[in-house]
Amino acid sequence: MASESETNKRLLLDVLTRPGNDACADCGNAEPDWASVTLGVFVCQGCSLLHRGIPHISRVKSVQQESWEASEVELMAAMGNEAAKAKYEQKVPAFYYRPKHTDCKLLREQWIRARYERNEFEFIEKQEPYSAGYREGFLWKRGRDNGQFLSRKFILSEREGALKYFSKQEARDPKAVMKIETLNATFQPAKIGNPYGLQITYLRDNSTRNIFVYHSDSKEMVDWFNAIRAARFHYLQVAFPGASDEELVPKLTRSFMKEGFMEKTGPKHTEGFKKRWFTMDDRRLMYFKDPLDAYARGEVFIGSKENSYTVLPGLPPSTQGYHWNHGITIVTPDRKFLFACETEAEQKDWITAFQRVINRPMRPQEYAVEAHFKHKP
Ligand SMILES: [Zn+2]
Repeated sequence: MASESETNKRLLLDVLTRPGNDACADCGNAEPDWASVTLGVFVCQGCSLLHRGIPHISRVKSVQQESWEASEVELMAAMGNEAAKAKYEQKVPAFYYRPKHTDCKLLREQWIRARYERNEFEFIEKQEPYSAGYREGFLWKRGRDNGQFLSRKFILSEREGALKYFSKQEARDPKAVMKIETLNATFQPAKIGNPYGLQITYLRDNSTRNIFVYHSDSKEMVDWFNAIRAARFHYLQVAFPGASDEELVPKLTRSFMKEGFMEKTGPKHTEGFKKRWFTMDDRRLMYFKDPLDAYARGEVFIGSKENSYTVLPGLPPSTQGYHWNHGITIVTPDRKFLFACETEAEQKDWITAFQRVINRPMRPQEYAVEAHFKHKP
């Protein structure tokens, strides 16, 4: 006869096979093997570690490695991931960022706290910090010239269509006005060297500008991020009337397709190769002297193969002056761009990123971007 603990484990594994329990309740990662015995959800190991940060709400156990009480199994059977979703995600705003398992810890942790600790998606009034259309507060902003982080006042106003910041508290004129139309925000903890580091980009005169900020409080930082997404969402709803939420949500903020160092040469291909930091932001390839520069040294538009853009491994045979041995040639209608990567793996990754946009036909509005595009050699 099976022991009680064997029976419980068998029942638990049966609950695990029910619809919805095959993916982590919090990040969607496949085959969760941990569970919160107080909340009744199955989660992945990564999320189980974050649940340990809210011990007053969640107690996690390993599905396989620990023994289970009958009452715990009953609770898992009574709740499960689908029922939990219905309870904790009743009123998630369309613009609110739902993290995946590959996202930074900050986003995943705050999503878990918002769901279970603050019950933010059951009570709409708790969403005011990011859904009100106006947000004001202080962020630590990296100085353009000295790299020092200084406290700066920021105002996000949907009515004004802009995010602004002020260099002095009493200043009347903002130091920068970033239009919501071209605003993007992406968490970059490694690059910025802060677990809450956020990169904000915007366009001025069709050139990309970067600012790097963080808030010392994790909820505040994620609220800023979602406030920017809300502002973008409402802007796009007006700009594209009739577009569905599903069409607009992917346009709110975007992560870069790839970043890293490569060497490049100038337009004559006789200049020595110089090491630069490259950021691939959709069809926009930018290069910087330093990863945290405020302005790109140059930007290259990467179109589609139908419009004579090609990426090739290697460099033309006569090329000289490079130090890294894994070359990439990008052919555009105007000229060739020559790059060199330090490793073969980097070369492969970059080529894959370039091919993704080159193989995608250009949308009508991208022709306008291409026409406006100016790049420095
Ligand atoms: Zn997870």
